[in-house]
Amino acid sequence: MMGESGHKADGVERRGLMFVLSSPSGAGKTTLSRLLIERMAGLRMSVSVTTRPMRPGEVDGRDYFFVDHARFQAMADNGDLLEWATVFDNGYGTPRAPVEAALTAGEDVLFDIDWQGTQQLREKAGKDVVSVFILPPSAGDLEKRLHTRAQDSDDVIRGRMSRASHELSHWAEYDYIVVNHTIEDAFAEVQSILKAERLKRERRTGLTEFVRSLQKQLGQ
Ligand code: 5GP
Repeated sequence: MMGESGHKADGVERRGLMFVLSSPSGAGKTTLSRLLIERMAGLRMSVSVTTRPMRPGEVDGRDYFFVDHARFQAMADNGDLLEWATVFDNGYGTPRAPVEAALTAGEDVLFDIDWQGTQQLREKAGKDVVSVFILPPSAGDLEKRLHTRAQDSDDVIRGRMSRASHELSHWAEYDYIVVNHTIEDAFAEVQSILKAERLKRERRTGLTEFVRSLQKQLGQ
């Protein structure tokens, strides 16, 4: 179903993949996502819908599509969301159409979603999903980053800290675990994962044809 399309960067057709980054808030996942989009060709960000209020500096349609609860519910009821979950009392979901369009256009898709969404994607798209869990190097580091971000109230930050330990408990459901000591090292690791996953034999649907044509040229 999903991912059947013309990914052909090195001349061999392959299935598209859905690349998921999850982590507790403040582990650096947003920065990693941005770097991946900037530096990796053929990768498109999935922009989620959310009912939570916009933070300063956020842009509607870039960071999220900000919607009210009624609109969110309507999208969920209509099957317009590939997955959705409630996080910190707000709805978060992945619009289905842009993901399908990107995969059809020959691009991989990057998701910044939580463990609930990752489980749903896995159920729907199986091995087309590659998931990475980002861990902070320490609890102190996580807290510092939440404070540095300084966009949320102390109450919200406390709530996020207590949620972090629950979110951490889902690490074992992920394919890869990256500890974010420095953003450049973590980026290099995540980039390596994506590069290697793109080369996996099972995704490379054009290999039989490619090798056959090599053999033909070799006179077999
Ligand atoms: P924030 O409010 O800090 O932007 O995001 C809170 C959490 O919601 C993060 O863990 C983020 O990964 C998750 N999230 C963002 N968009 C989605 C989505 O579309 N689906 C799911 N399941 N989680 C999401």
